[in-house]
Amino acid sequence: MTPEQQTQLWRSRDLKHCWHPFTPQSIWGKESEMLFIESGEGVWLRDSLGRRYIDGNSSIWVNIHGHAHPRIVSAIAAQAGKIAHSSYLGFSHGLASDLATRLCSYFPKDTLSRVFFSDDGSTALETALKMAFQSWAQTPGEEARRSFVAFNNCYHGDTMGAASLGGVANFFDKFKGYGIPVHHATGMADLHALSQDERASIAAIVIEPIIQGVNRMTPWPKGMLLELREYCNDNNIYLICDEVMTGFGRTGKLFASMIEGVIPDFLCCAKGLTSGYSPLAACLTTESIFESFLGDYSENKTFYYGHSFTAHPIGCAAAMASLDIFEEDQVLENLVPKIELIAQLAQQLEQSSPYVRAHRQVGMILGIDITRADGSPYLQNERAGEKACVAMRPYQLLTRPVTHDTIVFMPPLCISEQEIRQAFAAIEQGISDALACMPS
Ligand SMILES: *Cc1c(COP(=O)(O)O)cnc(C)c1O
Repeated sequence: MTPEQQTQLWRSRDLKHCWHPFTPQSIWGKESEMLFIESGEGVWLRDSLGRRYIDGNSSIWVNIHGHAHPRIVSAIAAQAGKIAHSSYLGFSHGLASDLATRLCSYFPKDTLSRVFFSDDGSTALETALKMAFQSWAQTPGEEARRSFVAFNNCYHGDTMGAASLGGVANFFDKFKGYGIPVHHATGMADLHALSQDERASIAAIVIEPIIQGVNRMTPWPKGMLLELREYCNDNNIYLICDEVMTGFGRTGKLFASMIEGVIPDFLCCAKGLTSGYSPLAACLTTESIFESFLGDYSENKTFYYGHSFTAHPIGCAAAMASLDIFEEDQVLENLVPKIELIAQLAQQLEQSSPYVRAHRQVGMILGIDITRADGSPYLQNERAGEKACVAMRPYQLLTRPVTHDTIVFMPPLCISEQEIRQAFAAIEQGISDALACMPS
């Protein structure tokens, strides 16, 4: 079979039997070519027809050190050769002990000192929600803390609990009324306006620290996270930081919370934990929360929660190798000039492209807003962002928009300055090719 015939066969099988996430299946594969990604190396992806592309959104925000990194690949292979999966329920394994110890070592002693493993971002958030809820239920005098606060337009995952936090109307409105009770706040002012009674009913406040992702890559005002930490301290409310997108160097620090020196009561990480090589998540928490689950067997304080693949050994092996690379290659130190270059090129793009009106950047995360040349916004059903991203493919860049008109550029941290320049040229060309032929 030629690569063309093979691709056609996969395409017809996909159309017949597959169902893609967040995808209107009625138009899937009809308006733009269905790409089959077959391999990758560093920031480059290769499709089944041999074409190469820069991975402009780190394969949906997960990849950190590039694809097929020899060090991570050999760690995974070595682990798979020993044992691919063993149960963390009733047994333990060494890599999980080492990884938990290492994750806690990034935080001051006596702060985040316990790690609960799960599979992905959503289940890391479920873990934090359930732990927060049950912890208060087992704390005399605090049993009334049963509700959660999240922020408008936030995104915390798609399982029912994580989705009840979600503030993006398009995704979550159909499920309104299901899931857990959540109060949505726009910012600190709303929290300060809550009565003492309301504050005393809150188990935890959940935030994407420093920058909201799905909400068009929108940074919070400077100092807001620190103010939120103080608010939580003053009102005896747990703070849950969802670092699923921001963790592992994406913002220039290992974790975004570190930018304001904030330590949450729960820190959830997933996507980049394994450098995106394998699904694995971790929810870090404090010793005092851990202790609220201790007691006589008869008190029934156990955290009855977990998944088949908890602390998956292959994920743990990948995560350890990824953290080694951070140290040995001084990844965070080497990001500084790249972050500056992205800032400079984003500024230039905003000046030179008639379709770019604004951009927002935190570290290696960039959102670029597109409009019509006269500055008027595109409507959601025009799908301008999607069309612009498809038009970037011939210029060797793959990425996706968030909402309908914000282009995301969030490459693997290993991208070179040369490749960053190449990616920006593709972004500018793709935007102008696609939008020039859209109705004004
Ligand atoms: C992706 C993401 C999640 C959900 O993670 P999954 O692994 O897709 O379940 C949660 N929170 C944030 C901030 C994310 O970016």
